[in-house]
Amino acid sequence: MFHRFHDKQKYLGSISSDNLEDLILNIGESRILSPLEWKDRCKKHKLENHHVCLTFDDCLKSQYEIALPILEKYSIKAFFFIQTVVLDGGLDYNEYFLQKINSQYDNFDTFFNSFEKHIIVDNDIFLDNKYIIYKNDLLDKFSLYSESEIRYRYLRNRIFSFDDFNNELARFFSLNEDEHDECDDIWMTKQDIKQLVNLGHTIGLHTHNHNINFTQLSKELKFNEYTVNKEKIENITDEKVWVSSHPLGLYDSDTIDILKSLDIECSFRSNNLIPEGKKIINPSNFEFARNDVANILKP
Ligand SMILES: [Zn+2]
Repeated sequence: MFHRFHDKQKYLGSISSDNLEDLILNIGESRILSPLEWKDRCKKHKLENHHVCLTFDDCLKSQYEIALPILEKYSIKAFFFIQTVVLDGGLDYNEYFLQKINSQYDNFDTFFNSFEKHIIVDNDIFLDNKYIIYKNDLLDKFSLYSESEIRYRYLRNRIFSFDDFNNELARFFSLNEDEHDECDDIWMTKQDIKQLVNLGHTIGLHTHNHNINFTQLSKELKFNEYTVNKEKIENITDEKVWVSSHPLGLYDSDTIDILKSLDIECSFRSNNLIPEGKKIINPSNFEFARNDVANILKP
């Protein structure tokens, strides 16, 4: 599972084109299945432990500019999971603010120290058992997160509503409503997506808005998130979408019902632990485990 790529300076778990190339060579090109072969084997229950596929989430321009040339060099076809809000001039606020933090601060800790003072939260929340459980759970999945990155996610995902948290960040960065700068190079365009399809890559669903609290939405809103996403992608690609990845790894049984009703045949999660309440790592075609490249490349 890949997210951000960098040219010169590493940021927010990003990797370089050399890292990607090394990884492909280490895995071995012959083990990497194309999305269509993945689908075929998935339907016939013929996926084996040594099979691997490459997936890219979040419609990031850096994937197009830095990772795509490497995929082309090795003739590897991959999955790209797209949140369509960013193709219509909208913002994926989560990514937008993380990029903004990265461009304005030397490191995340420096940012978080000032932000924590700005939002004035009672520090006792970080002593609470709820926080400790949240932290341990997150570290199980993403062992490289620092304390301030975990606290940021806790405030974002558990303490504030999505809108309130974004408003706090906008106030912190002194942004007026509708004022977005530095966005042009964050996400791919519709033309980029079209080009990925022309090159034989597969585009999958990732919800329209990429909500950080997706599972807390009503079933109707979850359904809308996926139907709008599917319609917009199919309008660009002229192909039926058959695959998805759960936004920020968030899904529940409603989600799986919705995906089935939309003729989605397989979906990916964002960690490689056994899902809660299940006995095996890949309990169904809608819960394929993935390994974050940051965990694979960790020093
Ligand atoms: Zn995502």
